[in-house]
Amino acid sequence: MPHSESPSPETPEGSGFLSQFGKSEESTEWHSPAPAGYQRGRTKFVVVVGTVMSGLGKGIFASSLAKLIKDKGLSVAPIKMEGYLNIDSGTLNPYRHGEVFVLADGCETDMDLGTYERILGQDLTRRNFVTAGQIYTEVLERERRGGYLGRDVQMIPHVTGIVKMRLRELAMSGGSNGKQADVVFVEVGGTAGDYENGFYIEALRELAFEEGPESTCFVALTYILEPSILGEQKSKAAQLGIKRLMEAGIQPHIVACRAKNPVTDKVMEKMAMFSNVPLKRIFSMHDRESVYVIPEAMRAAGLDREILSILNLHDRTSPAKEDVARVEWLDFSRRIFAPRKHFIELGISGKYAALRDAYASIDKAVEHCSIQFSCDIRTRWIDTSELLDDAQTGAALDGVHALIVPGGFGQRGVEGKIRCVKWARTNKIPFLGICLGFQMAVIEFGRNVLGLAGANSTEFEPNCAHPMISELPEQKKLEGIMGGTMRLGGQEVILEPGSIASFLYGGKTEMRERFRHRFEVDPAYIAQLQDAGLRFSGRHPRFPIMQMLELPQSMHPYFVGGQFHPELTSRPLSPNPMFLGLIAAAIASREPEFAQTELGRRWVRNASKPVAAN
Ligand code: GLN
Repeated sequence: MPHSESPSPETPEGSGFLSQFGKSEESTEWHSPAPAGYQRGRTKFVVVVGTVMSGLGKGIFASSLAKLIKDKGLSVAPIKMEGYLNIDSGTLNPYRHGEVFVLADGCETDMDLGTYERILGQDLTRRNFVTAGQIYTEVLERERRGGYLGRDVQMIPHVTGIVKMRLRELAMSGGSNGKQADVVFVEVGGTAGDYENGFYIEALRELAFEEGPESTCFVALTYILEPSILGEQKSKAAQLGIKRLMEAGIQPHIVACRAKNPVTDKVMEKMAMFSNVPLKRIFSMHDRESVYVIPEAMRAAGLDREILSILNLHDRTSPAKEDVARVEWLDFSRRIFAPRKHFIELGISGKYAALRDAYASIDKAVEHCSIQFSCDIRTRWIDTSELLDDAQTGAALDGVHALIVPGGFGQRGVEGKIRCVKWARTNKIPFLGICLGFQMAVIEFGRNVLGLAGANSTEFEPNCAHPMISELPEQKKLEGIMGGTMRLGGQEVILEPGSIASFLYGGKTEMRERFRHRFEVDPAYIAQLQDAGLRFSGRHPRFPIMQMLELPQSMHPYFVGGQFHPELTSRPLSPNPMFLGLIAAAIASREPEFAQTELGRRWVRNASKPVAAN
């Protein structure tokens, strides 16, 4: 988008930029880039900055707040600003950073973006995610192109200028019907006072000044300590944290206090007093029994109304829309606490079993199904690197009613995953293979049904006798064009009519899911696999890329895999069909009458037909 420069924050809304005032970039200190057509004041900004410590659930806080505002009929666009220098999250180790979340457009992001998509029920794009690496790269590339007209390039205004530009670009694209977004929700990674995010905080200070009064609402999310030896809440760390923000020139409008227990009046008063924020704008955000009740808790406390007042947004809200959205969400959150009708134990065989954040979206997708089916799902995390033979595998999985083999990269734990697939296939336990899990299902079938002992993926054994999974020349050519090394993001999947796949996706013959892989099924083996019963029921519309597999129900009650990541599109109110199918099959295996219920009929295929014995 072309950059244009406004001469001063007093510039009336939508009026001219530098050239119209006869000023060149060299002769002014203003540097306030905005995309062409940007209407100042139209989009409001809510900025959430953490203090005291990280890990307060800023993403959950910001997304819940954004949901409340969205439910009132306003268009919202969230953005996560990361302080690290990586260009995206693609190279980050899930063990340290949690899972890599993939957006429909292929952008690899922090797992917080998953929280936003799920809570808001809205697909995001690369505009909703920015890292310091992206910002610096843009500045440095522009400098090399001579884009700064002989000036020295500085953190202020040039780096901060790019940040403001990114926010305004998001505002431009974030609304509905091509309009500017009503509210951009900015989540700054890290805490106030970090080196890494200092330039973001400075850019946001400038933004608030340039956009004018009632344009920006700063929310300080802080933490109230409650040391067990004292048995009372202490606010000093929170006070100091907010002071850091004020030292950066930012006066918060709202202080949200995370705490274990409801924040006491005494602490609330102290916070008001030390932060210049009226008491009615200090909120207790203590721990709740579920994240899904947070929006309603915020509403009950009046947080949404304060935001609307600060930003002068009351006129844009629609109480009718809010009522509908609220009833739907309340109904959903009531079901979270309803006593469960069913119970299953679900095995998840991964190599990061010790760290649930590495599988955050799978965890959420399972939770969505648990609420949908009123089923208590106990998850057993299985570290596959410890499964050295079939006996150990059987022992580790004994009693499990359904199995997920999730995605992954690298050799560790792979043989254990193949043993888990074998166990689920031969014991007729409902199975879902995701990405690497899908590939492992193909290899297991090749080795144990087709008798191809040397079957493997070239990712792990480049010279194996039967490279059933490999990086294909076709794929390499495509990569050359796209400039990446992985097949990423939303892709079309053509579903075979009459298949379980098509049944799960409501009888459709095509759908889209999100991918993140480099290797795939070698087409040379497809005929052999299919002849022995493994069906590739989901394919690429043009290339021979196998995207879904299944065993017919004469062989197995539910054996389904996807080369994509179905967990990324699961939402609280619309769980992903492949997970629903898995859990429904598991419930039905324990309680055959479940298949005759309304939900059972929808999600258990051929419920009335008994599964043939071996
Ligand atoms: N490592 C496999 C591949 O690159 C699977 C990737 C995944 O599970 N996300 O194809």
